[in-house]
Parts: sequence; C-alpha cells; structure tokens
Amino acid sequence: MSLHGDYDPQNIFAQIIRGEAPCYKLYEDDDVLAFLDLFPQAHGHTLVIPKRVAARNILEIDAQSLAKLMAVTQQLTRVLVAELQPDGVQVAQFNGAPAGQTVFHLHMHIIPRVAGQDLGIHAANRADPAELAQLQARLVKRLAG
Ligand code: 5GP
Repeated sequence: MSLHGDYDPQNIFAQIIRGEAPCYKLYEDDDVLAFLDLFPQAHGHTLVIPKRVAARNILEIDAQSLAKLMAVTQQLTRVLVAELQPDGVQVAQFNGAPAGQTVFHLHMHIIPRVAGQDLGIHAANRADPAELAQLQARLVKRLAG
C-alpha cells in the first residue's frame, strides 16, 4: 500500500474501534484507544490509535488529534515502563508499506525493550492469549493506580 490512497473502513483497527473485533484493551476515551499487540515484538508491545479520525497515516491527521494521541502514548509509555521495568522503550510509527506499515489506520507502537534482545520490526508469532490477558490486567491496574 502506498502512502497515498483512500481510508479502508474495514481495516482491522477500524473493526476494533467499532467493537466488531476483539482486543486486549488497556485504555479508552472519546478520542483514543490503546490495546496490546496480538503479534508482539516484545513483552508489553502496545498500540495506541485515534478513534474519531479516519487517518491512514501521520500525514492525514489534524494536529489537535495528533497531540491527543501523543499525550496518551506518553501516558501509556510511563505505565509500561513503571510496570515492566524494561531497559529501554521504543515509540514508533510507520507510514506506507515501504516504511513497514501493515495496518492502514494510524497507530503508535510502544515497545518495551530488554537489553540483548533483537530489535525486530515484525514478529512472527501470535501471543499466548492467557499471557495477554494477564498482562492486560496488570497494566490496567497500574493505569488506574
Ligand atoms: P504496522 O506494521 O502497521 O506499523 O503495525 C501493525 C501492528 O498491528 C503489528 O504490530 C501487528 O502485530 C498488529 N496487529 C495486526 N493485526 C492485529 C489484530 O488483529 N489485533 C491486534 N491487537 N494487533 C494486530
């Protein structure tokens, strides 16, 4: 998929926003939804997406909605770091297939990183559902506390 084109309302993140597909939700407000990545590059890999903007990428979102997305991304990054105590944390965002984008609804990746582990861009394995549910409970509790 190129950088330019039409927004597909059937993309998987649009389905998650509408409640048509499930997710391990960490946070939601009127503008933003955050949930665990199903194919995590590392333990705690989280995605943060705008809910009300049909933006495929960072070129298509208004500055105010982007600011809100980034504020929540920072909040979730702090929660992930506090709870999981990684050695580093990657906050990333890709635009267009040649840049690594595979889902064409704008999203921020938050990826806790542990020293010595590979910096893979795409993971091959689907996460264990029990592990995701346990992690979701930990992080939601930390977010509330
Ligand atoms: P991109 O490569 O577009 O920047 O990132 C898309 C991300 O969405 C990938 O990390 C991929 O693992 C994740 N992903 C793809 N399908 C699903 C899904 O159905 N649920 C969740 N939670 N994550 C998904």
